[in-house]
Amino acid sequence: MTRRRWIAENWDETSATLTGAQAEHLARVLRAEVGMEAEVVAGGRLFQARVASVTHFGEASEVHFELASELRADPALPVTLVMAVYKFDRMEWALEKATELGVAAIAPVIARRTEKHLAQAAGKRVERWRRIAHEASQQARRADVPAIDDPVFLTDRVNMPSTASRIVLAEQERTTALRAAVEQAIAGSGAKRPAFEIAIGPEGGWAPAEETLFATSGWRAVSLGPRILRAETAAISALAIIASSLECRGEDSRVP
Ligand code: SAM
Repeated sequence: MTRRRWIAENWDETSATLTGAQAEHLARVLRAEVGMEAEVVAGGRLFQARVASVTHFGEASEVHFELASELRADPALPVTLVMAVYKFDRMEWALEKATELGVAAIAPVIARRTEKHLAQAAGKRVERWRRIAHEASQQARRADVPAIDDPVFLTDRVNMPSTASRIVLAEQERTTALRAAVEQAIAGSGAKRPAFEIAIGPEGGWAPAEETLFATSGWRAVSLGPRILRAETAAISALAIIASSLECRGEDSRVP
């Protein structure tokens, strides 16, 4: 039976504490007892752990763990998804799936064709996106939680300095496929796992001025094929292609 994995909010070198919904579930639903074994993520590191105490404060609970041996943790995919803000329910679905696929970070951006009311509401929605990423990380048994940045305007993101390979998914692009661009970046980087920034447009796509901005700022335009994909489908297929390029190279002992 796969041991449940918990992502601690507070920790030090020898112990970790769960609070909030996770602690509620572990204490009241799973009826955690002192001595119970579990896997705990503390500060991006994965540990074998044992419940040291379960405390109830009225409606709230706190579960305290003793950290035992450190376990090998699978690193996140070195990918930041630069996602243009679009319909929240579908964007949040994409965020959950991207977390399951191992994304390291998500940078929401306000693009020209981001609907006005969504652009205005995005800032207030970030905490909810971070909760979704936390829960999806736990469900995917990750050893970390992807960072979700505060939303910024696309131009600010594009002008931010970066050492990553910067790639824009462009539905009009017809010559360069994402996989080819990824393989070239890997070959050219000398690093086993070079970092990537992948930009995905809103429902209305990128505006011509944004395509020019990307082109003049060193971003490489790539295609995901002849069909127009919804933004969430584009996000998932891009991550799957990068994962297959980075994680299926016989370097990761877990991949046969
Ligand atoms: N409104 C646009 C159109 O009809 O041409 C479609 C935009 S699409 C729903 C949203 C984003 O997904 C695009 O801006 C692009 O980043 C990505 N995308 C969708 N299909 C793609 C493809 N075949 N190749 C590359 N990117 C794609």
